[in-house]
Amino acid sequence: RQALLDVDDLVVDYGVHEPVRAVDHVSLRVRRGEFVGIVGESGCGKSTLLYAVARLLSPPARIVSGQVDFAGHQMVQLTEDELRPIRWRDYSVVMQSAMNALNPVLSIGAQLRDAMAAHERVPAAQMRQRSEEVLRLVGIDPIHLTSYPHQLSGGMRQRAMIAMALVFRPDLIIMDEPTSALDVVAQRSLMRRVKALQEEFGFAVLFVTHDMSLVSHYSDRLAIMYAGQMVELGPTREVFAHARHPYSTGLLGAFPSLRGERRELTGIPGAPPDLRHPPRGCRFQPRCPKVMDVCREDPPPYQVGGTDLVRCHLYGPDASERQESR
Ligand code: SF4
Ligand code: MG
Repeated sequence: RQALLDVDDLVVDYGVHEPVRAVDHVSLRVRRGEFVGIVGESGCGKSTLLYAVARLLSPPARIVSGQVDFAGHQMVQLTEDELRPIRWRDYSVVMQSAMNALNPVLSIGAQLRDAMAAHERVPAAQMRQRSEEVLRLVGIDPIHLTSYPHQLSGGMRQRAMIAMALVFRPDLIIMDEPTSALDVVAQRSLMRRVKALQEEFGFAVLFVTHDMSLVSHYSDRLAIMYAGQMVELGPTREVFAHARHPYSTGLLGAFPSLRGERRELTGIPGAPPDLRHPPRGCRFQPRCPKVMDVCREDPPPYQVGGTDLVRCHLYGPDASERQESR
């Protein structure tokens, strides 16, 4: 079955003279109605990947190569004029901070109206009805159509953003840490609402977060990024039960010790590499508890296609040989 979104070998650089490769040959497919989480430490390229897919990157970031097929649209090639009719209608974006994304001098109702008016001619009464509808969907009393962003709580502002993203019932909603500004209780309630809406309307979600536990309950598949690369991708339950890449294991908070016990770690020792000078071989090798000689020389093999991926010499085509000869 054809994917709704097919990201193929996407490369994004920052800067021109000494470019930093923020997204390094990433491939990812999202099916209709699927919830895909992308997890990784800050600076791993996950937000950049989202903004590249949504065609919202601004200089000095630029797509260097690769393709993004979204419902038959070749996103990388589209001009701003060609993007306008499909943005919001076919896909929408919810940013990390609604405070930055919402217009502070317009009421919520006016912003919903503007979003609709930009796409179609809708009679005022119908616009109002639709605005009330989407606010109710996200659990905001329509009385707040006349409220300004600063009059709403952080959680309500994020929900207002989601209401705007839902106005046209798009096929795909792209979310960049939409709950990170909220406390844990507000985070959970927002996530539950997003999931319920997704189940009701069947849109696909591409969701970025640094919080593994947040996506664990809601995503169908999980992609783990490290230093601009996707290092593991698989069904969420599989990844949680049997994470393969040592970085994923570390993110999950437990490296199996030599005696087979699980040892709790608060994090992974060390820091991600400077992307201007990534390490030779595997990008994770300076921090990897399972590093082998080959890891310091050769970049691990990369498996595209299917629903699973792991970028690590422990699982490459020669892995069994390697493990036998050790
Ligand atoms: Fe660790 Fe080697 Fe796998 Fe990289 S390729 S994650 S260094 S075992
Ligand atoms: Mg980010």
